[in-house]
Amino acid sequence: MRLLFWIVNCMAFVVEAATAAQPSVSTIDDEQMRIDTSRARVMPAGDAWTIVAPMLDDNGDTTLPANFRRWWHFQIDGLDPALGTTLAIEITNAGYEDVITPVWSVDGGRSYERIAGVLPRVASDTHTFTIQTPVGASSIRLAKYFPYTLAMHDAFRASLKGQDVVREEVIGRSSQGRDITMLSLTDASVPDRPKRRVWIQSAVHPAETPAIFTCEGLVSWFVANGTALEEMIVNVVLLPNPDGIALGNYRTTATSVNLEVQWSAPYDSEVPEIVALRETIERFMGTPTAPARSPICLLLNLHASHGEGYPFHFVHEPAYPPNGVIPAVRELEDRWVAAFKRRSAFGALRKTDPKSTLAGRSYVESMMHDRYTLQPAWPPVMAITFEGTYEAGPTPEVPNTPADYRRLGAEMAAAVVDAVRDYPAGELRGTRRAPSESGNPGIHPRISP
Ligand SMILES: [Zn+2]
Repeated sequence: MRLLFWIVNCMAFVVEAATAAQPSVSTIDDEQMRIDTSRARVMPAGDAWTIVAPMLDDNGDTTLPANFRRWWHFQIDGLDPALGTTLAIEITNAGYEDVITPVWSVDGGRSYERIAGVLPRVASDTHTFTIQTPVGASSIRLAKYFPYTLAMHDAFRASLKGQDVVREEVIGRSSQGRDITMLSLTDASVPDRPKRRVWIQSAVHPAETPAIFTCEGLVSWFVANGTALEEMIVNVVLLPNPDGIALGNYRTTATSVNLEVQWSAPYDSEVPEIVALRETIERFMGTPTAPARSPICLLLNLHASHGEGYPFHFVHEPAYPPNGVIPAVRELEDRWVAAFKRRSAFGALRKTDPKSTLAGRSYVESMMHDRYTLQPAWPPVMAITFEGTYEAGPTPEVPNTPADYRRLGAEMAAAVVDAVRDYPAGELRGTRRAPSESGNPGIHPRISP
């Protein structure tokens, strides 16, 4: 009798195990998702489940450096909506060691939030943490940090429709044929006179999303403070690498190109994303014999960094030659950074900004220094990289959010107005010195990366 009771009990258990949902993991195209789903595992662990999610190189390209593996985002289905599900998550094969509070979406990707109080343990290349999924959710999305999808980009662009000061232009197409769009912000009703031009680009590295939230905040500020645009033109490329966004790459394009390295020899580059940016910058700068009336005087290259606390700028060492960071550029950089820190309490938390020698002449600012600042036809260009970070926020112990970076972007916009007005008056009036003999835009000092 006892044996029969035991057998019946076992059968009940088997039936229950067979009918209980087992979680499953997946990635969705175009939603900035990436893990190695072919090697992901879901295993029962008592009342909970263990999910092992290996990170995957950009495009699955194993020739890329390990430290390019820094983005993961995936969907988990089959959760228990009645009681919630306990999940022990192991993110393996990681190319970063920062402890970053993960985020989730419980509404199908419409919104994401930090998972309060969940800090991964990081050992070798594995990030481990446990979450309790919310009651009511049969599916969640889980990510290293707040993603930025093409749908979010479309929604942001739609929010600008009808604004007189915003014009949108397609400046090129990515290798997979996606539009690379530029927003031009200016008050077109102001009579034609030289305006001061500013160039902003964000997230050449597609999963560095704090840069994109910063850029959105900056654009929104200018739209809400249109009088600043009577004297300025602000050109913004929010997503220079849309393929990378769609594919869930951390650092590269669909063809595994790290775009910033291309700037060490930009005139040879046939990478379509670089061609789009380079040709548009060339159009705005003009040539040595016919420099543009409103050349770029200030350029911000927005990124995000690992291994750092608060946001910062990479200020440049004055190391010419071969670095085009002449003393006038250094002075402009110092004035810019000071202007930014005056406007942004979050931005001022980092007291000392790291110095960069621009070794290898990567980054778009190299072209601005070498090609324009060193030529007498143009005033010096203040061109610099800004880096957001993934964990520290303006409030101690509270991880940052997109709202923090949008606010920082608004403060950055106010600082741009300060800095441009503070730009040396003679330079701003477009004072032209005689072009040099070698001032041919087709001839450039060749510097190997
Ligand atoms: Zn970057």
